[in-house]
Amino acid sequence: MAGQRSWTDELSRALDTEMALADRLFRKLKERTGNPSGKGVVRDSYGKGEQIAHEICTEAARALDLDVSTDFAGNLYMTLPGEDRAAPAWFTGSHLDSVPSGGNYDGAAGVVAGLAALAAFRRAGTKLARDVTVVGTRAEEVGSWFTGRHSGHVGSRAALGLFSEEELDSAVRQDTGLSMRRHMEQSGFDPKALFASPPHLAPSRLKGWVELHIEQGPVLEREGYPVGVVTGIRGTVRARDAACIGAYTHSGAVPREYRQDAVIAAADFIGAMDQAWERVLARGGDLVFTVGKLYTDASVHALSKVPGEVRFCIDLRSQDETVLQEMAELVQRHAQAIGKKRRVRFEIGPVSTQHPAVMDATFRRTLMEGCRALGIAAMDIPSGAGHDAAEFAHVGVPAAMIFVRNANGSHNPDEAMEMDDFALATRLLAWFFTTR
Ligand SMILES: [Zn+2]
Repeated sequence: MAGQRSWTDELSRALDTEMALADRLFRKLKERTGNPSGKGVVRDSYGKGEQIAHEICTEAARALDLDVSTDFAGNLYMTLPGEDRAAPAWFTGSHLDSVPSGGNYDGAAGVVAGLAALAAFRRAGTKLARDVTVVGTRAEEVGSWFTGRHSGHVGSRAALGLFSEEELDSAVRQDTGLSMRRHMEQSGFDPKALFASPPHLAPSRLKGWVELHIEQGPVLEREGYPVGVVTGIRGTVRARDAACIGAYTHSGAVPREYRQDAVIAAADFIGAMDQAWERVLARGGDLVFTVGKLYTDASVHALSKVPGEVRFCIDLRSQDETVLQEMAELVQRHAQAIGKKRRVRFEIGPVSTQHPAVMDATFRRTLMEGCRALGIAAMDIPSGAGHDAAEFAHVGVPAAMIFVRNANGSHNPDEAMEMDDFALATRLLAWFFTTR
């Protein structure tokens, strides 16, 4: 395998050198998209902050003499030509938007790593077999900015033909009140043309999608690994607005057997789901289960009342479709049984599902082989958060993800990725592209 690669000492040194470029880009992103009224960065989807991030990366790509283009949805493509320009290309990158008051590395790390790798290939004069394109996607964090009906990950789905025309008008930005269509137009893109032409990225054009991203949980930090090779991206089963309806009565006067206590019934339900979660883990399955927005109406409930209504949301995630289905059924079954036992009614409401995305087994093996070759300590890790990589996997493009250790979680201003860890992950990414 090693003989087939264009990995050289010169390239290795060039990667070290180009960490200065990465550093400059991270600093510029932070300076120019920093939250003026608080902490963190603001790179709003189809807004000013995201636009600035795209401009910073475009400028860097031009300085590296890469082929730079955009599609109708405004995704940015920065390509280093390979020897066979007709061969399916490697695609890498991530999103350049952020959540409100987000961290500087979520998304941007993937684009900066791609640019640093291409800069190193340029510097070392590395000849690659095929094109490598770094993509800065749009509106991956759309859920934090737009309400209304949309299915997330707008940029990557638009590029792959998975974005539907209705979403242009049904997704509305919370702060401006303007539709996705208007925001795309205002950012200088052409949503009409998006649906008048075939998808920008036909899966056959891609040899694979490899996305570098900070880990958004504590696992690598706790386990002591700088890098993780992602096994799969969890799918979801979610009920955004579930309720348990009982009856308000006097908390002193009504004996146990006459009560329709919504709080105790909801607690029963959560406990039963928690036990099911434990059983799935005990048999080696993958699952996370969360209940939140759990409340009684404080304007109706009072100290001397048996609570008559509880509202809550349910978020179930697994890499395993069967586990998700099993849990979705269990939600209904427990709701029925506990409802009957406690004399209440559960209204679970609309349940939305997203399929899990399995990462390509060959790519995962190659990445682990790369870790051994480069002396990088790495572990397998599932992704609990959604990523653009899932959309590529869903259309049949082989996809992989490299996670970088990151303290303090993500979707907050305190993300704390170390540049030494980032350098290792970028090195692994570059190594991967030197394959034939
Ligand atoms: Zn992200």
